[in-house]
Amino acid sequence: MAERLSGAPVAKALDKETKERADSLAEKGIQPTLAVLRVGENDADISYEKNIIKKASKNGIAVKQVILPENVENDAFFEVLDSLNQDAAVHGILMFRPLPAHLDGERARTGIAAEKDVDGCSDLSLAGVFIGKELGFAPCTAQAVIELLDFYNIDLKGKDVCLAGRSLVVGKPLSSLCTNRHATVDLCHSRTTDLPGHARRSDILITAIGRAGFFTADYVDPEKGQIVIDVGMNTDEEGKLCGDAVYDELEPLVKAITPVPGGVGSVTTAVLMRHVVEACERTTR
Ligand code: NAP
Repeated sequence: MAERLSGAPVAKALDKETKERADSLAEKGIQPTLAVLRVGENDADISYEKNIIKKASKNGIAVKQVILPENVENDAFFEVLDSLNQDAAVHGILMFRPLPAHLDGERARTGIAAEKDVDGCSDLSLAGVFIGKELGFAPCTAQAVIELLDFYNIDLKGKDVCLAGRSLVVGKPLSSLCTNRHATVDLCHSRTTDLPGHARRSDILITAIGRAGFFTADYVDPEKGQIVIDVGMNTDEEGKLCGDAVYDELEPLVKAITPVPGGVGSVTTAVLMRHVVEACERTTR
């Protein structure tokens, strides 16, 4: 039976550390603050925002909600973003994406000041991940995978990692983070020939392609004692949240596996909170 790599204890440990760091900032009279920038009334954004507000309050982080109407004009939107970039009382900015199509989403992504880019979407943040420098922050989900591996003492050094998915949010930055930890990364995507072969040869298989139930028994080698980290967040035919991997099929064949829900996704917001405190601490150095 495989070890179930749950996200809850990882998030709990991260939250404990974040709260301690926020408390010591508070003792110096500094209030770590996250600005949440939302355009429109998308249900998924609102639900994530509520979750963030709850989590932030437990971690000693203040949230400044900035809600703009769906039809906000481009210039007005960028005035708000610029003012958040310049506001010394705001340490981190989380902007819900994608923005409505009439707004310049690419300018917005690259327009968040790197030192406040706690969600890791700007070019400088991504460059920092690539070169291993603190220019901004790693994307939270990519960093959440590293936190989960660390928590369960899974050392990446010398390991063969098959990473399926090459987006800027997950796959590419995570590939750099794993390489920085001395793993050998096989970065796969939709044009990869023989993905099952790449996956079977790996020590650690990370799935981030956004396809419900894609990774079946064909993608693992029961002789290897592999670890499967499922980043996918999809809905199945019954509308239930599920990963890219078929958990019940892989679980008897591998050494350890993350569930969905309850795996990487539960760690992501905890990473976001830690990034806010870190951004705040950096202003005091
Ligand atoms: P994305 O931007 O759509 O990228 C998907 C990647 O998967 C692309 O690189 C694509 O290849 C590759 N791909 C798609 N179909 C494939 C196939 N049949 N075989 C091999 N590769 C394939 O998605 P994303 O934003 O990275 O998200 C990936 C998954 O992670 C989604 O399920 C998303 O919901 C989830 N996610 C979870 C969290 C969390 O907190 N746990 C956060 C963010 C995302 P090409 O580049 O060749 O098109």
